[in-house]
Amino acid sequence: MPGSVLPVVTRFAPSPTGHLHLGHAHAALFGWRTARAAGGQFLLRIEDIDTGRCRPVFETDLIEDLRWLGLDWDGPIRRQSAHFDDYRAARAQLEALGLLYRCFCTRRDVAAEIGEAAQAPHGLAGSLYPGRCRTLSPAESDDRAAAGHPFAWRLDARRALALTGPLTWTDRLAGTQSVCPETLGDVVLARKDTPTSYHLSVTVDDAIQGVTLVTRGVDLFHATAIHRLLQALLALPVPQWHHHPLLTDDQGRRLAKRDGARSLRALRATGLSPAQVRALAGMT
Ligand code: GLU
Repeated sequence: MPGSVLPVVTRFAPSPTGHLHLGHAHAALFGWRTARAAGGQFLLRIEDIDTGRCRPVFETDLIEDLRWLGLDWDGPIRRQSAHFDDYRAARAQLEALGLLYRCFCTRRDVAAEIGEAAQAPHGLAGSLYPGRCRTLSPAESDDRAAAGHPFAWRLDARRALALTGPLTWTDRLAGTQSVCPETLGDVVLARKDTPTSYHLSVTVDDAIQGVTLVTRGVDLFHATAIHRLLQALLALPVPQWHHHPLLTDDQGRRLAKRDGARSLRALRATGLSPAQVRALAGMT
């Protein structure tokens, strides 16, 4: 609501597909400090929809790493794998609006089509799905599904934006942003192997958990337009965002989970204290 000041509720939302590294420590401490400085709440959410890649041991370890770093969080931890019904309900709402279509493409199909298209549409975050399955007739789509071909559900983003009308969102660093149809892309909202996707579950959960300030790395800046669109379609509250710069190594490269030497565990094993690791994470 214009003029009203919401209590600050931030969250850290790691995926337990590996051990936390310094980049995660930076993101977690950033969200935690922002909440605590404002007298607000900090939540922890485990983004484990990818049941094939997530491992319980990484969840146990990340909780221990965060506590070791000195973080605490409010309320229970939300585990996405326990809430597939919430995402199914949201997906059904979007389907009822006529905004979803089945996509039977494999990754290889999508890559080939993007490669072939002379004017492949590009979103700010990379190549956008060119839309091969958007034009399937409902009968053909039904037939293929009935024949057992695996499919994902995609959002018809332009149609969705035509329904909501122009949208904006606010980043505390970058200011007010407009949602542009050219850069949206028909993202997957339910994957072939799981009844949701990153975009859908993150949007639903931020609303269910009452998150008022989404703090996360700037690498997800362009995903926010999709989340803003989904909030409008699902009539969810609209938070603010603060996309912070990513921590980089000495050569300016982004830190990744595969960079095992920089995992918090590895750093701990060298005898560093929590304060020293916080400093390495750029959070003195
Ligand atoms: N689970 C996401 C990640 O580990 C974070 C998503 C978000 O903060 O919106 O990158």
